[in-house]
Amino acid sequence: MDVITLLGAVLVNALLMSLALAVGVGLRTRSGLQAWQFMLLGQALGFGLLIGATLAAPRLLATLGVMTLSGSASATVITAARFLGLAVSRRWLWGAPLGLGVVHALVFSDLGVATGLTNLTIGAQIIWASVLLLRGADGVRWRWLCGGAALANGIMTLARGCLVLGWPEIYPRFLTPNPLNIGSMLLLNASLVLGTMGFLLAHRDAAEQALVRLASLDTLTGLLNRREWMSRAGTALGVAGESSVLLMLDLDHFKRINDERGHPVGDEVLKLAGEVLRGELRASDLVGRYGGEEFCLLVRHCDAEAFARLDSRLHQAMRRRCEATLGFVVDFSAGAIRIEAGETLAAAIKRADDQLYRAKHAGRGRTCCADGVL
Ligand code: GH3
Ligand code: MG
Ligand code: MG
Repeated sequence: MDVITLLGAVLVNALLMSLALAVGVGLRTRSGLQAWQFMLLGQALGFGLLIGATLAAPRLLATLGVMTLSGSASATVITAARFLGLAVSRRWLWGAPLGLGVVHALVFSDLGVATGLTNLTIGAQIIWASVLLLRGADGVRWRWLCGGAALANGIMTLARGCLVLGWPEIYPRFLTPNPLNIGSMLLLNASLVLGTMGFLLAHRDAAEQALVRLASLDTLTGLLNRREWMSRAGTALGVAGESSVLLMLDLDHFKRINDERGHPVGDEVLKLAGEVLRGELRASDLVGRYGGEEFCLLVRHCDAEAFARLDSRLHQAMRRRCEATLGFVVDFSAGAIRIEAGETLAAAIKRADDQLYRAKHAGRGRTCCADGVL
């Protein structure tokens, strides 16, 4: 097999995949896929420069080629980091291609050393990406796919580096049709294709997760929306049973706030209410926006004393936060019931609503509790 044809195929493959990503996915700036697109472009350009270096200006073109390939390896690290939401050292990302370029130009007359250092640097960069991807990958399939492809490519590149430095006599020249060159080209090509497939899967997973978030959260307060809260509370009711308290809560005179201060201020009050509820509850409790200015809470394992403390904290926090942030006091009325054995969610909500109605009629700014809560 002819290495230059194989290399040409890798180059065209990388270019086409990069183009297809740009056209097909419509890349957002600073996305993981955008970094991968640069990585593919870097592969095509880098290998193009290395082929060019066999024809003219070898030191310049080969140095630019290895710098581009090292930059492309940094782009693999950036791709992994962006998909995983990790921060990575910029110093190393930029330092590797720049440092490699300087050293490569200086030692170019000793081709073996130049080639060895290039392979060791790029191999280490690719291994870095594979470690990010594989560490804690658990059942995430795209991480195994991309991490595995990067690991194989990284090990192959490192091995080439070690081989050319330690056993230069058996190391083939760049374009010699040697099994090592042919095998590496095939492995490189496979790792580019598998990496592209894996990161496309990652992109799809992220889009799916964003959709699920969008479908289950209330956009204004960030709390669960009514549908999601009902679904989770329904499930929790069967498990948590009688130690749980259901609290329905409604902001007082909210319409007046909207009318007198405007809707945007009303929205701010709702956001603050969301923050207060999230801040005061435990992770095991369920809190949702039930509708307009009504919220519902399922507080698990909550005895009378704990409930009394929680209720007083909620009223205080709501009043304080609104006064400190918006300059006026907002309070709420609430109704609380203790879940009874075998009770349906609809029945529990109805009972809590009755208590809330009592609280409004008793003058607002308070919580009325059914028997068994306190
Ligand atoms: P009460 O003390 O009896 O509860 O009186 P209220 O004014 O709070 O009750 P009412 O149910 O009459 O008013 C609720 C208002 O909430 C009416 C509606 O315009 C407003 N609202 C519902 N959703 C939103 C929202 O997302 N943003 C804002 N700013 N207002 C909302
Ligand atoms: Mg209301
Ligand atoms: Mg209200």
